[in-house]
Amino acid sequence: MSTRALITGITGQDGSHLAELLLDKGYDVVGMVRRSSTVNYERIAHIQDRITFAQGDLLDEVSMINMLREHRPEEVYNLAAQSFVQTSFGQPVLTGETTALGVTRMLDAIRIVDPGIRFYQASSSEMFGKVQAVPQSESTPFYPRSPYGVAKLYGHWITINYRESYDLHASSGILFNHEGPRRGLEFVTRKITHTAAKIKLGMATELRLGNLDAQRDWGFAGDYVEAMWRMLQQDGPDDYVVATGETHEVREFCEVAFEHVGLDYRDFVVQDERFMRPAEVDLLVGDPSKARADLGWELQTSFRDLVTMMVDADLALLQGDLRSISGS
Ligand code: GDP
Repeated sequence: MSTRALITGITGQDGSHLAELLLDKGYDVVGMVRRSSTVNYERIAHIQDRITFAQGDLLDEVSMINMLREHRPEEVYNLAAQSFVQTSFGQPVLTGETTALGVTRMLDAIRIVDPGIRFYQASSSEMFGKVQAVPQSESTPFYPRSPYGVAKLYGHWITINYRESYDLHASSGILFNHEGPRRGLEFVTRKITHTAAKIKLGMATELRLGNLDAQRDWGFAGDYVEAMWRMLQQDGPDDYVVATGETHEVREFCEVAFEHVGLDYRDFVVQDERFMRPAEVDLLVGDPSKARADLGWELQTSFRDLVTMMVDADLALLQGDLRSISGS
């Protein structure tokens, strides 16, 4: 019998990569989706017929209890969240309901239905915020700088609390920024690669950005979902930082992306106040030693390969759009 896993946030970037990975390993994959008139299945269209969908909502505990009772997963990966930092300043309470309290609801549902279920919580490097040490590891104190970071910190601690209180196999992956061609267009990496590709194709003339000095530890999402799975295969639950160990400025991301299409970013990037944040996270760089040593997890994709992969994917996407517009 194959193992059954439930993924929340299956239509998102990480959910789609994780679903692919688990299907390759022979899992039955159940994807939690919210009832809505328009669910966006774009990222999982190629594997949609191999996934069982279950209706549930992180805002509604009964829906999760019923879902777990019906599908009886052995593993649950909680990737659903309001995941965009800038939006969390405008919708702080909603962010708290899904990104923070949603974790408690899921943990409670697990405790009630089957405390043997192994649980993965998507924690975030945004919890380090105004960093208290460089690089950041599992033992670095937290200092979140946005309602999103605060909500993720709650999710992280409630996972630890349920592990300790009810002996759940509940692990938390503190993932640093992870990107790829499936990243939402609102995140700075994808915004840069998509706009650089547009400029190259004559479809845009400028790229408006906020703070170019921010430094991030950017890895490839496809590499990071492997670490999530490995955490749930361990004998015991724990917390792990997943990162590249390198940091790069937003400016540098622009430089590499534009260079890849033969352009100079300085000719196109315009600073725009609208994209600045009320409180900023200036520098993130993780220390993934524990994940390497305990999980045997290895990074596959370099910074340059990540940027060029994303630019190439956006060029291909936009050229497809152009072709469909011109009808050829
Ligand atoms: P985050 O680390 O989860 O907030 O990921 P983002 O991709 O949204 O932002 C990464 C960094 O890029 C932050 O420090 C932002 O302030 C900075 N940044 C600069 N310009 C922009 C922009 O136009 N959009 C976004 N999303 N971030 C920007």
